Amino acid sequence: MRKAIKTILALCAVTVLALSTFTLTVSAAPATTLQQMYGTLAEHTRGYEAVQARISGNTLTIHLYVNFQGAYNTKIGDQTYAALAKKGLRLWAGTYKGSQWDFKPGMSFTVKVNIHDIYKSAGRKPGQNYIDFVCKTSLDRSYVSQGVGYYNRELMGTNQGAIPDKRYLCGSIIMFSGISKRYTANQYIKTAAHEFGHVLGLGDLYNKGVAPTKECPGGAKYDKGDIMGAHGRVTANNIEMFLEAYKTNRYQAYVNSSLPEVKSRVIRSY
Ligand SMILES: [Zn+2]
Repeated sequence: MRKAIKTILALCAVTVLALSTFTLTVSAAPATTLQQMYGTLAEHTRGYEAVQARISGNTLTIHLYVNFQGAYNTKIGDQTYAALAKKGLRLWAGTYKGSQWDFKPGMSFTVKVNIHDIYKSAGRKPGQNYIDFVCKTSLDRSYVSQGVGYYNRELMGTNQGAIPDKRYLCGSIIMFSGISKRYTANQYIKTAAHEFGHVLGLGDLYNKGVAPTKECPGGAKYDKGDIMGAHGRVTANNIEMFLEAYKTNRYQAYVNSSLPEVKSRVIRSY
């Protein structure tokens, strides 16, 4: 009788153990963190670049050293070009989710944008590279002073590298006041965010003939599409392309086209 009770107790213990092991297995699959996937990025960061990024756990912090030039005090409504530009740069901040195309399914992480802004070079930190954000009052297409397909983060903010117009430093944002007519405040913000995407190493999505996917939601749609299209929103894929550019120091294009544009390996939906 005693022996039987002991056996039952032992069986119960096994069952409890099995149950707790099962519970442990289910809850012990913590979602992968950004840091587990990419490290801290310290090995890819020298410390003087105009764009620097750091990862801690599930937080990616992008630091941008930017020197505002030109008409940055000109206003749209009650906001200066500089204030609108910084809103645009900060559109890259937010919470993003992994999926079958980006990062890993089930994960979620935060991006912060830390802007180190100076004006007409006042208070420039010695030994630190800054890209210029040149605010123009004339109309034209805004662009980044670095040849399409070329990317070298260490040269940004210097007069070296693939610069089409030697008046500007490598990687500077040349921001016009509109294309055919003046930007609204929202258009100025979105355009700054799009140009910042080029500074982060991403190519253009618009006019590439790519059908929209959930990963890359369209090139032509204003607001609803991809920020690297016609000024949509920043997506998890945009962040993944930035991290790929950061690790490899290579331009991330949406399609293979004329050299040296090569489709990013982190685009998986087409
Ligand atoms: Zn563009």
